[in-house]
Amino acid sequence: MEDKRSKDISHFTREFVEDLAREENLILLGAVDLNLDPFYYKKYLDWIKNGNQAGMSYMENYQQFRESPALLVEGAQSALIFAYNYFAGDKLIEVKKGPPRIAMYARLRDYHKYLRVKSENILKKLRIHSPEIRSRVFVDSGPFLEKALATKSQKGFIGKNSLFIHPELGSYFSMVEIFIDEKVVYDKKESVDPSTRSSLGGCGSCKRCQTHCPTGALSEDYVLDARKCISYWTIEHRGPVPKEFWPHFKQYVFGCDICQLACPYNRGASLTEKTYAQLGAHINLFEVATMDQDFYEKTFGGTPLTRAKKEGLQRNALIALFVTKDPRLEEAVSFLEKSTHLASDNLRETIRELTTTL
Ligand code: SF4
Ligand code: SF4
Repeated sequence: MEDKRSKDISHFTREFVEDLAREENLILLGAVDLNLDPFYYKKYLDWIKNGNQAGMSYMENYQQFRESPALLVEGAQSALIFAYNYFAGDKLIEVKKGPPRIAMYARLRDYHKYLRVKSENILKKLRIHSPEIRSRVFVDSGPFLEKALATKSQKGFIGKNSLFIHPELGSYFSMVEIFIDEKVVYDKKESVDPSTRSSLGGCGSCKRCQTHCPTGALSEDYVLDARKCISYWTIEHRGPVPKEFWPHFKQYVFGCDICQLACPYNRGASLTEKTYAQLGAHINLFEVATMDQDFYEKTFGGTPLTRAKKEGLQRNALIALFVTKDPRLEEAVSFLEKSTHLASDNLRETIRELTTTL
């Protein structure tokens, strides 16, 4: 039966959505259609073909959605894209000195749940005007090219650090998308060419993220090589970390913000809402290296650090104890060797590497 509701008429204005976003402490980045520029899909295919995804094989899945995000949701026509600021006030000069930190986004309460609730609140209010709207919320959960889709807003661009950058807001934000089966008034502005610098943004000749990246993970313009990225090794990788990356655990024990801290577009960033912070910048490395399941759940449950799992956090903490020459390393290693139930096979491999180095 034909759906009587016209899918081509927007039941709410852009300003209305902007106001709803503001009420939830979000920023409306864009209202876009779902026809992705083929340039970005081709770039993604090249990225995969060249092995830049490292061990993140899930990045190779669902290529049809990465090419055509509209296929993800039946009848989807548009995406409302929102940003949530996570800037916690870190400074590049301090970060480079150490001690090891956790990346800023990860100090926040589980943003997946938090941002989903905010998105549902927005949807409830949209339904007052459009009761039959069909929708789906994505918070880091959809296999589509989120940053490429955001460029359709023509409010920003993907920089040489491979992040979506808004010329006024910078890049310290998580993104949330609501796919809906209605057309809305789409953003139409001059598009941003990242290779030139204009009032709308673009990297131009800047290379600050590339020169500050400690591992050369950004040596090719606009390409992130996860095989060299500290965020990959400390968050996504399971098993021992190659020794060549250990020295960088002096700065970060989970994630890495250096290529954002170096970016001039982030100079004017404002702090995130204080109530949202859960963890500080630093963790007690000895406690984390030797933690049991109960400590892990109480300290890290509901935070993005669970992505690395307990053994990943223990591994990172042990390496950080080693590279910072912390006198508690030997005690931590000896404790774990005795308490075999606290160390998995992967962790034992790191312990073996450490004991041969000590
Ligand atoms: S997150 Fe860190 S290691 Fe990864 S590309 Fe950025 S600066 Fe380099
Ligand atoms: S640091 Fe410079 S080159 Fe890197 S993303 Fe920012 S503007 Fe672009």
